[in-house]
Amino acid sequence: MPTRVTLIPGDGIGPSITDATVRVLEAAGADIEWDRQLAGMSAVTRWHDPIPDVTLDSIRSTGLALKGPLETPVGEGYRSINVALRKTFDLYANVRPTHVIMRNGRFDKVDIVLVRENTEGLYIGIEHYVRIGDDPKAAAESLAVITRFGSERVIRYAFEYALSHGRKKVTVAHKANILKFSQGLFLDVAREIAREYQGRIEFDEVIIDALAMKLVLHPERFDVIVTTNLFGDIMSDLISGLVGGLGLAPGANIGRTGAIFEAVHGTAPDIAGKNLANPGALILAACMMLDHIGDKARAERIRGAFEGLVRDGTVLTRDLGGTATTDQFTDAIIARLK
Ligand code: NAD
Repeated sequence: MPTRVTLIPGDGIGPSITDATVRVLEAAGADIEWDRQLAGMSAVTRWHDPIPDVTLDSIRSTGLALKGPLETPVGEGYRSINVALRKTFDLYANVRPTHVIMRNGRFDKVDIVLVRENTEGLYIGIEHYVRIGDDPKAAAESLAVITRFGSERVIRYAFEYALSHGRKKVTVAHKANILKFSQGLFLDVAREIAREYQGRIEFDEVIIDALAMKLVLHPERFDVIVTTNLFGDIMSDLISGLVGGLGLAPGANIGRTGAIFEAVHGTAPDIAGKNLANPGALILAACMMLDHIGDKARAERIRGAFEGLVRDGTVLTRDLGGTATTDQFTDAIIARLK
């Protein structure tokens, strides 16, 4: 029986990299039945709704989605559909593994898994303007909500991930020196949970600004990092930059009853429609999906073909220093699968 997966091509470079990913999975013989649905700007055009019920119903029934990036208007317009999907399906852990694939990069020993809390913090979406006199936007407030429940489950996820993947250390990244209540609670919970894993998984704590510096100087010192939503969003782009950029950075949004796999990057409007995008991050996200459904050998085969091509360096997209188009790069991955 094929596994049913909701496929959301998304906006910008999304349709081109999802096509490439589906081609690679099909070439590898993955037994998947795709249910194609829209979200984001393409859904606004088709359904006048950035997150139509038909898409939500599909994810509800499959429990699995592979998703291209979605455009979110800056400052105005509809709220982030990515955030809405993570909240709707309670996908509380955003898992973003990054390791060195390219030769001759800045570093040769980066192997970090960032676990980002995905449903709370500043991204919870409780915000408003404050009118003062004639100015309706004299001030603005955004609430950062951290709960013990939300912190416990994502921090425990990070420790369990470390155990099940043979990792040695979990680092909690926080700003509890300034945000004593919200970040303080996250740190307290991390310390409590770390005690349960004492002797099995090492634990350390780092203030988020110091983490930014330490990652750039000594990324090899980090293993699994767990942090709150906004910090995780920013740090995962930084970490992708250590190994060659967003084209190599996959992510998984994991909940109790569903999971959505996607690239860390966005719609890349500057290169959309030009056949220049690197589909690598979404292909690696699809491999995480295959791992998740138990098709680990196929995931390894695709990762092997992809990483071999990138290390070989003869066919690379522009972001990786090459001249290949999305189609040429995808063809070269498929050729290595044969
Ligand atoms: P971006 O990640 O789209 O692009 C940042 C830079 O990286 C650009 O120069 C882009 O060309 C490059 N880049 C990104 N992915 C690439 C790829 N696969 N191959 C080659 N180059 C790549 O970030 P942005 O420009 O800040 O955001 C654009 C839009 O994407 C916004 O509407 C934002 O809200 C949205 N976004 C969506 C998601 C998501 O759906 N998960 C994530 C981040 C941003």
